[in-house]
Amino acid sequence: MVMSYIKNRFKNSLFSLSGYLVLSIVIIHVLLLPVMYYTLLDSYKEHSYDRFIGHNNEVAGMLSDVISTKDLSNDEFDIIKILESSSLGDGVVYIELIDSNDSTYLYNESNAEDKKFVEDALVNANEDNTYFLSFPVYFKNNKDKISQLKLGFDETNVIEEYEAVKRTTAIILIAYFVAVLVLVSSIIRIIHRPLRLLRSQSKEIADGNLELPLTNTSCLKEIRFLTDDLEKMRGSLVGLAERMQYKATHDELTHLPNRYLFNDRLEQSIAISERENKEFSILLLDLDRFKEINDTLGHGVGDEVLKVVSDRMMLGLRDSDTVARIGGDEFSFILMNVNQILAERIAKKIIELVEPVFEINDHSLKVGASIGVSVFPLDGTDPELLMRRADVAMYNAKHNNLQISSYHPDMDSDHYEKLMLTNDLRSSIDNGLFEPFFQPKISLLTGETCGCELLLRWNHPNLGLIYPDKFIPLAERENLIGDLTRWAISSSLHEFESIVEKNADFHVSINVSPIDLLDAALFESINDILKTINFPEKNLFIEVTENAIMKNPARSADILNKFNNKGIVVSIDDFGTGYSSLSYLQKFPISELKIDKSFIYGLTKESNNYPIVSATITMAHDLGIVVVAEGVESQSVIDLLKEMGCDRVQGYHFSHPLNVDGFKQWLADQS
Ligand code: C2E
Ligand code: CA
Ligand code: CA
Repeated sequence: MVMSYIKNRFKNSLFSLSGYLVLSIVIIHVLLLPVMYYTLLDSYKEHSYDRFIGHNNEVAGMLSDVISTKDLSNDEFDIIKILESSSLGDGVVYIELIDSNDSTYLYNESNAEDKKFVEDALVNANEDNTYFLSFPVYFKNNKDKISQLKLGFDETNVIEEYEAVKRTTAIILIAYFVAVLVLVSSIIRIIHRPLRLLRSQSKEIADGNLELPLTNTSCLKEIRFLTDDLEKMRGSLVGLAERMQYKATHDELTHLPNRYLFNDRLEQSIAISERENKEFSILLLDLDRFKEINDTLGHGVGDEVLKVVSDRMMLGLRDSDTVARIGGDEFSFILMNVNQILAERIAKKIIELVEPVFEINDHSLKVGASIGVSVFPLDGTDPELLMRRADVAMYNAKHNNLQISSYHPDMDSDHYEKLMLTNDLRSSIDNGLFEPFFQPKISLLTGETCGCELLLRWNHPNLGLIYPDKFIPLAERENLIGDLTRWAISSSLHEFESIVEKNADFHVSINVSPIDLLDAALFESINDILKTINFPEKNLFIEVTENAIMKNPARSADILNKFNNKGIVVSIDDFGTGYSSLSYLQKFPISELKIDKSFIYGLTKESNNYPIVSATITMAHDLGIVVVAEGVESQSVIDLLKEMGCDRVQGYHFSHPLNVDGFKQWLADQS
């Protein structure tokens, strides 16, 4: 562990700029310094030793010249004198004069005794600290015979001087080497420090810390350039991050904050209001009829509408308020320090701003809005609850056509069930969790079953059996009712092929909701389904309510005529609960009329409904319309209806709605 750490450190330091620099400088100097050292010393040595030898030869030459003027036999005393005086100077430590007859005149200093003459070619050659040389002498009287002057010079000075120079040179070179290393390390530091700073700043950037600008005061141009480039890069990263941050937190179309930013602001608002002990309100706005605009005029127009609407909404807000687009046509507001009363007033102002007609691509458009209000801390202290309650209030406003509604605890449970069911609708259609049930219709004339009404049931995986009163409105709102109707017909009508084959008058009634009625595609899909099965058009009844017709009488007439022309029978459902004008309904191709069960189940001769039911039957017959009484629960009611001339009846007295097998069994039991 420790070893590998050290190894790594070493590797890191070696394979770095400073590593390479130090290594190369050391290598260069290890090679160069000895060469320098020896070259310097050699040249010094040569010079100083040559000078020493030259000088000695000069001394020897002079001495030789002086004694050459003497006569060896007569001037012996003079010669000794000369030699004696010579030994005093110039470091001469040994003098010997050998004449031609080999008689020796030896001048002998006190230490000359120890010296043994060995001629030297070089200085410091024989480790005797003496440089010995011999020189020829030609005495005046004895010119032909050569005498020898042998001299010894003290070498210690010149050797010591040389040793001193050697030491000094070594010290100078070592000092130079150390100075180079110091210089290199400070250069490394000059490069390293700003590089290290740059590195740590780049690391900060890599970690996403983009706020601090890069600083580098290095005197090195290259590093300044590098810093500038990195700073530019940081600048563009900051810009990029800001753009990305904006994109992540804003809606691209309206440029309003999105759900993500809204949640963030909501949390902040809660924290602030909690601290300051203040209220704030949330508005949840859902546009009315937006889906219709989108579906009929296209998404381009839809987008423009959203832009106009969001611009208009902004006009109603203060700087401290937030408005965000949190869904397709859903907007959310945070109104700081605003209580419920004020919030409702602001909501009203917003609706007034949104509502005026505007033009897009030559279309004059008007959109309304429904707003739900929830208030902190009254309706909740956490974001989720506040939003959920604003949502509950908004649905309440929408369903009751209130435009604005503030949350109230009573709204909760009902709303939640609806929301959950809405979520499950689509998948339940796809997964076949709906089941068609059939309720028999009995002819009062024959007492036989003349048909049945298809009534859907939903086998919800968690909630069990759910009745149409609950899911039909949801399916209508979610635009799934058409799919549901198509599915109901295509999955069950073929079950009656053999029944209508045996009984040509037997009919199956299906319920067509107001939305279905305006949907031209339904007619086509019913046609398509009928083509694939053996079921005659005349045996199919469609039940529509007066209210459905009155929503758009012209269009309804159009579509009902199509059905009628095709042979499909049109029946008016729930008669009595709506517009209830038979003379008006006369304009439509109607063959059957079903009196609503609310008139039927408690019916007696004395009840207020009696004259109404009676008159309805009479008038319908006058118009050639067959009358069905729904909700027949007792024999006494049957008797009354028979008396009044009602044609058909339907109700629990005969049978509750049954599933396919149950209904087939029921038919079999009747015959
Ligand atoms: P509706 O068309 O008026 O259907 C008759 C309703 O009265 C059925 O309720 C039936 O079960 C109930 N009923 C029958 N006999 C009696 C009786 O003697 N007494 C009482 N009190 N009620 C009786 P259900 O099945 O709950 O359906 C409710 C409504 O849901 C239907 O009213 C119809 O408008 C709608 N609906 C049912 N299935 C469909 C469908 O597939 N498509 C559409 N668009 N609507 C449907
Ligand atoms: Ca019906
Ligand atoms: Ca009905």
